[in-house]
This record gives sequence, structure tokens and C-alpha cells, in this order.
Amino acid sequence: MTKPVIDKLGRPIRDLRISLTDQCNFRCSYCMPKEVFGPEYAFLPKRELLDNKEVLLLVHCFTRLGVEKVRLTGGEPLLRRDLVDLVHAISTVKGVRDLSLTTNGSLLPRYAQDLKDAGLNRINVSLDSLDKDIFQKMAGGRGDPKSVIAGIDASLEAGLSIKTNMVVRKGVNVSEILPMVSYFRDRRITLRFIEYMDVGNTNQWKLNEVYPSNKILDIIRERYQFAPVDPNYRGEVATRYRYTDIPVEFGLINSITKPFCSDCNRARLSADGKLYSCLFASNGHDLKNLVRSRIDKAEIVNAISKIWINRHDRYSEERATGTQDSNKIEMSYIGG
Ligand code: SAM
Ligand code: SF4
Ligand code: SF4
Repeated sequence: MTKPVIDKLGRPIRDLRISLTDQCNFRCSYCMPKEVFGPEYAFLPKRELLDNKEVLLLVHCFTRLGVEKVRLTGGEPLLRRDLVDLVHAISTVKGVRDLSLTTNGSLLPRYAQDLKDAGLNRINVSLDSLDKDIFQKMAGGRGDPKSVIAGIDASLEAGLSIKTNMVVRKGVNVSEILPMVSYFRDRRITLRFIEYMDVGNTNQWKLNEVYPSNKILDIIRERYQFAPVDPNYRGEVATRYRYTDIPVEFGLINSITKPFCSDCNRARLSADGKLYSCLFASNGHDLKNLVRSRIDKAEIVNAISKIWINRHDRYSEERATGTQDSNKIEMSYIGG
């Protein structure tokens, strides 16, 4: 490692999230509403996407500055045909201690074993409902919970470690909180609730559609007893709880009601090679041109280091002030 870098608020860079494509086979209303991401929508042309070699070079550069965890995301990362090769390549990079994937799970039955064999450690599967109608309301009429569950089954069979993520949107899938809790508790799988966030500009986010985590806890408490669990490390995104009767956890990602910017150590690389220092940023730093100009790796490391050293993002903590740039980048592009 060259030298760990620290930003203006004393935060190191530890976690790199890489979006591998801006395309997706779902149209979740909170992420890629179908009214906006229709047949005419201009996705990134293939030549603009980083290829596997370019992604790998950047992963090497980031590990020199302190990155230890790499998460592959999107859009839907399983739509990328050469994903398994990329997983294999990144898993052999010295310095990458944890390699994970976030997916909507629908294509996992086909790829789970190959991903495990290629060196993937963990998978986060997004699933907002076990009920088909509610699922499709959330996913823009696409997919169904059965195929996602089949993806979870395939991943477990392959020996991958799994967590499930559920975005909760008031008026849409609150009734699914308890069924999801019971189902994943019985299966000994960690379920994490994500507060509906104001990412991007297309989901027409309104504060009154956020179902706050304290109310989620109230609902779970109606049926189960649980206790808080201490964080595993600084910067852990989820607030964790464990049921008192069985060794199973669940978590809450409270980015609206309890922002966690002060420990945020995550950098995001878009599919076309722009570095974003915050999920809610409006501008990225172009690394693709640096990579394609074939300059020395040390110069790329230096460029990334300068960007991180100047970072002072704390969007979620400032949200209430209402003074932020409203032109935010879409989550399907920047990666979740
Ligand atoms: N397609 C993959 C998936 O759905 O898991 C990976 C990309 S997706 C952008 C990553 C995560 O972001 C998913 O868990 C998704 O539920 C979450 N997400 C997207 N838009 C969101 C929003 N407005 N608020 C909260 N979470 C959101
Ligand atoms: Fe696709 Fe994931 Fe966004 Fe849903 S949350 S539209 S599955 S990228
Ligand atoms: Fe990190 Fe930005 Fe989210 Fe704060 S708002 S936790 S700085 S990504």
C-alpha cells in the first residue's frame, strides 16, 4: 500500500463500490421508474464502459490508498456478460479482503456457482416483498419474488454468504415487513431494511413516503424480541439487532432518520469510470480518460488521492438544511 488517505473530515477510504452497467432488467419505482427509463432512454454506449482490464487497474490503484472492500453493483451487475471473469481477477488482487456483489437476484440461479468458484465472498440480494403483486409494484411490473428466492437458494447451495435488502416505501410494501422478517428469520438469513432515499432526480422522492426505521422496529417488536448488537467496525452502514431466541440478526439502514456520514469511507466508481465521493453527488471525477491515456499507475493513484483528500461530502447530514445541489446523479448509474 502506498499510503492510506484521509479526507477533510478525517475519514479514510476503505470501501469501493463499482457500478458495472447502468442497465437493469427491473424498473424499481424508487430507482429506475419505468416512465423515465423507457424504450427511448439513452443508456451508456458500450465503448464508454470500463472494460475488465480497466476496472482491474483501478482496483489495484484504490487498494494502494487503503481500499480493502470491493462491492460490484449497478444497474444490475449480472447483466454484464464477463462478470465472472472480473470477479476472478479482482479476487486475486492483494489488498482486497472482501469482494461482494449487490444484485436483484433474478439471474443468480444461472451464475451463483460460477461466482463462488471465481472467488466471490458475499452477496446482497434486494427483495422488497414476498407477495407477487406488491413485488411488481415496487419493481415496475418486472420479475417475481419466486425467481429471486430461487437465486437466494442457488447462492446458499453454492456456499455464498447472503444478506437480503428490503427498501420500505410507505403506502406500498409496509405490510410485507413482518412476512419478510418471519421468512428470513426462519431461514437464518440476515434481512436489512433500507429507508427510501432521495437519490437521483427521477423517483419524485417525498419525505412523507419514507417509512422510518423506528416504526419498522415497532412492527417487528409486535411479534419478536430482539436486542441491539455492537457495530463490527467503524463505518458500518447498518444498525444491527439480534433476536433473543435464535442467533439471527437483522439490520436497519437509516440514511434518512439517522445519517452516518461522519464514518462514511465509501468511494463509488460509475460504469463509465467516474469517481464519486458521495451517493448524492452531482459531479464525478473522470478516471477513464486517465486510464485510457496510459499514464503511469502511480499518477492515477496520485490523482485519486488528491480527490479523496479534498472530499468533504456529508449530504445526508445536511439534508434537512435544503441547501444542497438538486441535480443528483441516478443510483442505477452510480451504483448502490
Ligand atoms: N440492481 C441491484 C439491486 O437492486 O440490488 C444493484 C443496484 S441497486 C441501485 C442497489 C441497492 O440500492 C438495492 O438494494 C436497491 O434496493 C437500493 N436502492 C435503489 N434506489 C433506492 C432508493 N431510492 N432508496 C433506497 N434504496 C435504494
Ligand atoms: Fe434495477 Fe436494482 Fe435499481 Fe431495482 S434497485 S431498478 S433492480 S438497479
Ligand atoms: Fe456517505 Fe454521502 Fe451517504 Fe453521507 S450522504 S453517508 S457522505 S454517501
